[in-house]
Amino acid sequence: MKPDKNVRSPRDDSAIRNYPRLLKRYARLLELSSQMVSTLDLGTLLQHIADAAQELTESEASSILLYDPQTDHLYFEAATGPLEEGFSRTAVPADNSIAGWIFSNVEPLLVEDTQKDPRFFAEIDVQTSFHTRSILGVPLQTKDKTLGVIEVVNKKRGTFGADDLQLLQSLAAQAAIAIENTRLFQQSDLIAEMVHELRTPLAALMAAAHLLQRPNLADTQSTNLIQTVSKEVQRLNGMTTDFLELARLESGRVQFIREPVHLEGLVHECLELIRPQAESQNITVNTAFDHSLSPVQGDRNHLKQLLLNLLTNAIKYNRKGGWVKVSLRRDKGDLLLAVEDSGRGIPPESLPLIFERFYRVPDQGAQTTGTGLGLVIAQRIAQNHQGKITVKSEVGKGSTFTLQLPAGR
Ligand code: ADP
Repeated sequence: MKPDKNVRSPRDDSAIRNYPRLLKRYARLLELSSQMVSTLDLGTLLQHIADAAQELTESEASSILLYDPQTDHLYFEAATGPLEEGFSRTAVPADNSIAGWIFSNVEPLLVEDTQKDPRFFAEIDVQTSFHTRSILGVPLQTKDKTLGVIEVVNKKRGTFGADDLQLLQSLAAQAAIAIENTRLFQQSDLIAEMVHELRTPLAALMAAAHLLQRPNLADTQSTNLIQTVSKEVQRLNGMTTDFLELARLESGRVQFIREPVHLEGLVHECLELIRPQAESQNITVNTAFDHSLSPVQGDRNHLKQLLLNLLTNAIKYNRKGGWVKVSLRRDKGDLLLAVEDSGRGIPPESLPLIFERFYRVPDQGAQTTGTGLGLVIAQRIAQNHQGKITVKSEVGKGSTFTLQLPAGR
């Protein structure tokens, strides 16, 4: 059966006339894409994609269908708006539905009047008590396979046009990669996690590069985009360094040297390194040491890396004019090195998560840069010394990270 209307040429004059509005929609695509790839849970990800599709195309509802090769059916996996109620993983035949057509032909499709199209799977309107007038759908495609379909339903004002199609296709391209990565992550290994994480800065860079190519870009817009590029490149750089370090640690190939290390001397050395950072924020650093402590047996360079991470965080997540206190004491068979700060603190629900790979406390991301790998690396180094890092924190007051190492072994 022939499609009602197969949309192939997305560019037309109206795109140029609507340029400022279109630019805003693309900027939003950039934001949504970044948010989209920030989750590793498939259900949450699909909901983000469905929300983004509805918003970008200014539709009444959207849905995502994924293909299950075992049953040869497409399943509604996420939906928004009125479709959200009652769709509950409904199966749609791959050979007899609009989504099925898009999936099998691997092409976008616009159906302006669903009631006149025999491919329309009317069952869904019955289940959701919704009236579908028009559908725009695109395949979710990776390099070598089609994962499913994104559909948007009923344009709020007017009818779906070439801009809607182009935005939906751009979203679908990134969504497909994000879905694939999330699936890979579920079978989890470290490489898959990293690739997933790289998508956030890469998606931002791709979209910024795309926007920068547009003619008549206002100076402020191009300055903002260039700042985005620079920030994301820095982030990628930090991620690759941390990732390589973690991969080396996890591979078990890193040799830990055992040598006597004077923690007091090591802390002073680290404090010298972070002094400029503390001064730029007017943060006072105090120390309280038990000077009688004997050296610990450990790997000096790795312990330095661990300390630098705790100290950098204590400054990074602090407030202007705040303080950091580093103390060193013995408690029975252990040496305790505590880094206390007057910063924003960590909410109780986030505390168990901060030692997880890539975890960052929400809402801080916008203000501070980081990879969410520093504490994982630090904890691993502590464990390699038969020690551990623990944390206590109160929101609005500050946090204390304590490194506990076996003393005098
Ligand atoms: P990042 O690169 O994000 O700093 P880390 O692994 O070092 O990664 O820390 C993980 C998260 O824990 C940070 O993103 C931050 O949300 C939180 N965190 C770490 N240290 C502190 C601190 N001293 N005060 C408040 N939050 C902190």
